[in-house]
Amino acid sequence: MKADTAAPVADVHLAALKAIAGPGAFLEGSDATRPYRLSWRYGYEGHTALVLRPKTTAETAALVRYCAEHRIAIVPQAGNTGLTFGGQPREAMSEVVVSVDRMDTIRALDLGNDTITVDAGVILQKIQEAAAAEQRLFPLSLGAQGSCRIGGNISTNAGGVQVLRYGNTRALVLGLEVVLPDGRIWDGLRGLRKDNTGYDLKQLFIGGEGTLGIITAAVLKLFPRPTASETAWIAVESPAQSVALLSAMKAQMGDAVSAFELIRRSIVDFTIKGVPGNDDPMREVHPWYVLMDVSSQGAPGSLYEPLSEALAAAAEAGTIVDAVIAGSVQQARKLWKMREDMADGQRAAGGSIAHDISVPVSDIAAFVAEADAAVEAAYPGVRHCCFGHVGDGNLHYNPVRPEGWAQERFMQEYGAINRIVHDIVIKHRGSISAEHGIGRIRLEENHHYKSPVELDLLRAVKRALDPAGIMNPGKMIEM
Ligand SMILES: Cc1cc2nc3c(=O)[nH]c(=O)nc-3n(C[C@H](O)[C@H](O)[C@H](O)COP(=O)(O)OP(=O)(O)OC[C@H]3O[C@@H](n4cnc5c(N)ncnc54)[C@H](O)[C@@H]3O)c2cc1C
Repeated sequence: MKADTAAPVADVHLAALKAIAGPGAFLEGSDATRPYRLSWRYGYEGHTALVLRPKTTAETAALVRYCAEHRIAIVPQAGNTGLTFGGQPREAMSEVVVSVDRMDTIRALDLGNDTITVDAGVILQKIQEAAAAEQRLFPLSLGAQGSCRIGGNISTNAGGVQVLRYGNTRALVLGLEVVLPDGRIWDGLRGLRKDNTGYDLKQLFIGGEGTLGIITAAVLKLFPRPTASETAWIAVESPAQSVALLSAMKAQMGDAVSAFELIRRSIVDFTIKGVPGNDDPMREVHPWYVLMDVSSQGAPGSLYEPLSEALAAAAEAGTIVDAVIAGSVQQARKLWKMREDMADGQRAAGGSIAHDISVPVSDIAAFVAEADAAVEAAYPGVRHCCFGHVGDGNLHYNPVRPEGWAQERFMQEYGAINRIVHDIVIKHRGSISAEHGIGRIRLEENHHYKSPVELDLLRAVKRALDPAGIMNPGKMIEM
């Protein structure tokens, strides 16, 4: 990662920002700021003298205005669960963190419009619960949902397990309120499903990783809450079978297919061994599995028969090897716990090099075969590890160090393994980041693969909105 060489923020500015924020709205000192400096991934720790925690949009704007006047760099932050070092300050004490974690009010629920309007600091799970209390569904769902916040979800265009049916965050946001890098407030908090009055500005901030402004509120889409659902754990022989199974399930059950996760055996072993409370859902061991949810309106249990029939047909056609349908809500939760624990299971196995790639769904099998062969050829004995969202072509393809290798030795191969895997991704016209974003960790890699035309366009947008370059510099796009 490129070092930050900017000068530390001067004491006079730190004092002025503390005065603008007021008591209780800032943190300073190494211990107090640590939770905002520390990354969930690899234990990376950045540095800052000041974490600002405004409670309102107006307070955020006042802080940003001061920073704009004095060219002080800002790192926007929400729940700090991001995985690309995008939300941490860098090393040189040259940035202040502006966290939206105290902006956590649900502003309005409009059931007639099926929308909820929330502050950017509301925890994702709280939005899901508020929707559920009104028999609605907010479908964004991911492992970090108890601590990530909607401003961060929007800024990373988060995906998760229900993208297949409901789309990613881009598809779930109708309106935004943003404090721009000069301190002005853009009020785009409209709950419209149709609006053809010019460029769709909100889409610049969705997935913008905090490089264009600070999102302070959003209008989100709600859906009817499914009343019938089933969860199945299905054994397949290969990724190719999982893709064939997805087609078969969509043909038979249509939109009811809401989650469809591909899971390699190795990650099941790592998770059973490394994270308490998990055990094998099947007696026999199989090389690959699919964890599938179907859901719809209708009487509870009404999907059991159609799902059983669809799976029986798949078994007859040779598309699956075995399947179990969860017999209770508890069993379904246990299967999903295993999926959610996989990141921890992999960590417990030690030394994995993560990739968050996507390829066209029809290329998944070829990608896995080619990447396995190439990584194995370069690192004999590497343990192949892979799980992800088949319906979106998004795989977390994470080779784990060969037995006997020290973790540090394997991690030194980070860049080399990235390049092997990403070259194959690009050959399939895929993406090197399907859901976690670029942040700092994939900055060089992104510039390596983006065309000059695409880089020009990205830089033109950044320059137009943030000419002084104070919003999250050194993240996502290098000027
Ligand atoms: C266990 C686990 C499972 C995960 N699973 C998934 C998954 O399935 N799918 C997925 O997509 N991600 C996943 N993630 C990654 C992470 O949870 C998401 O990226 C999440 O959306 C980040 O939200 P956050 O509130 O933690 O954002 P943060 O980490 O605080 O910030 C992320 C980025 O957004 C910017 N940002 C934050 N708030 C604002 C704001 N208000 N305005 C402007 N910019 C802002 C930051 O500068 C940073 O660049 C997972 C992470 C963990 C730890």
